[in-house]
Amino acid sequence: MSDSPHLLLVEDDRQLLAMLDALLTEEGYHVDTAADGQQGLHLALTRSYDVVVLDRGLPAIEGLDLLTRLRLRGVVTPTLVLSALANPADRVAGLDAGAEDYLGKPFDLDELLARLRALRRRHLDTARSLPLPGGRLELDTRSAVLGDREPVRLSTRECDLLAAFATRPGTVFTRRQLLALVFDDAESDAAVDTYVHYLRRKLGRAVIDTVRGRGYQLGRGR
Ligand code: CA
Repeated sequence: MSDSPHLLLVEDDRQLLAMLDALLTEEGYHVDTAADGQQGLHLALTRSYDVVVLDRGLPAIEGLDLLTRLRLRGVVTPTLVLSALANPADRVAGLDAGAEDYLGKPFDLDELLARLRALRRRHLDTARSLPLPGGRLELDTRSAVLGDREPVRLSTRECDLLAAFATRPGTVFTRRQLLALVFDDAESDAAVDTYVHYLRRKLGRAVIDTVRGRGYQLGRGR
């Protein structure tokens, strides 16, 4: 592991962006910056970060939308939301969207730095793996590890689909949502059924539950 953690900072307030960039760099972070949600999403999807600091009110893609898209793509980089929207309901919305931590503006710089250190410590053990019923999905090797069984290798698309479920256990996804998230929109709903079938054949029926009339969700493991 590099001594210099890579941090993505997404903030549209140019002055705050420059100030945080300078301070975090001074603290030893390797900082990439994005001034809108589109650029932030692109960087977060294409580069590897140890931690993300994310504003909410952003041009192009709002911060929590960005975070939801990242989580649904299986990107589990620990994320601290830094926002002026800081009442309890705002914080709940942020945590529900997949943020690990939430800090209101104005903030204390020492508190921000301490929270970032804590986030990284917590994340070191769980990097790039998502919990599955009775096991876990390793995103780097695209393999599912269930119980004592040998790891099962998945295709890119099987892995993306399973990651979408594993990122949001308890969420029922419609076929249309899954098409938009994992497949090209042009494909028919049947593509989703086909890949759910592949996953069940490889990992057992209980890995994904059918929710009649609605869609699919991560299985609860039986
Ligand atoms: Ca903003």
